[in-house]
Amino acid sequence: MPMETLEDLLEEQLQDLFSAENQLLKALPKMAKRASSPKLKKAFEMHTEQTRQHVERLRDVGERLEIKLSGKTCKAMEGLVKEGQEVIEEDGEGPVIDAALVAAAQRVEHYEISAYGTVRAMAEELGEKQVAKLLQKTLDEESATDEKLTKISEGELLPAARAGMEEEEE
Ligand code: FE
Ligand code: FE
Repeated sequence: MPMETLEDLLEEQLQDLFSAENQLLKALPKMAKRASSPKLKKAFEMHTEQTRQHVERLRDVGERLEIKLSGKTCKAMEGLVKEGQEVIEEDGEGPVIDAALVAAAQRVEHYEISAYGTVRAMAEELGEKQVAKLLQKTLDEESATDEKLTKISEGELLPAARAGMEEEEE
């Protein structure tokens, strides 16, 4: 696809994001399944539902901008999902694996936060106010998820992982 205008660039960025969200929609239930902490499991399940909405919101954006979103593969998300899959397949203790799941998931959220910030700014520059608003809404949900994961990790998983380690030493 030629990239001559800001519209072209926004289209390419949205296609990449559409691929990223769809990949994530498949990966998140597996992460939820692997999580031991009920809180973490719930957070992954809730974000799966949000991610479903992110895909729908992107479809809405695509319709508004009259662009086709399918056909591109986000290679960065492929890599991030692979790293998450490695954690899923790892043997290990509940809280340590849970902390590793959070580590992988937060990389994903940060990638999304960055990507949504970019497309929102482009939409704003193009005067696409409604589109910018929709993208900001998803961005807010990604940020909230990131913060929630930090809370679960620092409040529960890391202390539990450390306590487990002390038990082994006894
Ligand atoms: Fe998302
Ligand atoms: Fe997300």
